[in-house]
Amino acid sequence: MFLNVSFDGHMSVIFGGEVTCPVCGAKTFRYTELLYETPFFGNVLIQSGFCSSCGYRLFDIDYAEVGRPTRIVFTALDGVDVAKSFLIRSKTGSISSPDLGFTLEPGTHGEPMITTVEGFLYKVVDYAERLKVLEPESADKVDQFIQKVYKKIDEGGFTLVVEDPLGKSLILPYRQESVRIEYL
Ligand SMILES: [Zn+2]
Repeated sequence: MFLNVSFDGHMSVIFGGEVTCPVCGAKTFRYTELLYETPFFGNVLIQSGFCSSCGYRLFDIDYAEVGRPTRIVFTALDGVDVAKSFLIRSKTGSISSPDLGFTLEPGTHGEPMITTVEGFLYKVVDYAERLKVLEPESADKVDQFIQKVYKKIDEGGFTLVVEDPLGKSLILPYRQESVRIEYL
C-alpha cells in the first residue's frame, strides 16, 4: 500500500496490522511501520504500535542521524507550511515556540506523536484548555493565547524549535527551506 503525502518526499506504509504483542503475547498489538523518503533527512523509518490488551506502546524512529543531539528550527511562513509539514516527536523531544510563547518538555506532555504541524497546534490548544480548568484565574491570558494559536494556524508566521538529545524528533517540512537543523 502506498500513500502519497504532500510534503517534498513520500511516505509508504511497509506494514500495518494486528500482530502478537511482545509484552503480553495477545494478538492485539496494532503495529505500523512507515518509511518516509525525504530529501532532507534521507530515509526515515518509524515503528509505532499499541496493544489494546495490556496497553503497551511502541514508538521508535530510525534514520542516519539518530543518536546525535539535534535542534530543528522550523519557520512556518504561511498556512500551507502549517497544514502540510509533518512533526515527529519522540518521547525525548521538547518543542517550543518563542513567538507563540510555549514550551512542551518531554515528561510533561511526553507522548510520542506523528502529526502535521497543524494537528500539533490543536493539541497545544487542548493543553491550554486543560490549563484553564486547573488555573481559572489565568483564563483570560490562556484565551488570548488560544486565539493567537488559531490565527497562526491559518496564517503561519511563527517558529517551532524541536530539541532532542537522541535526535529522534524531526520536522518533515512542506518546503525544505523552512527547516534548519543544528547538531548540538
Ligand atoms: Zn500486550
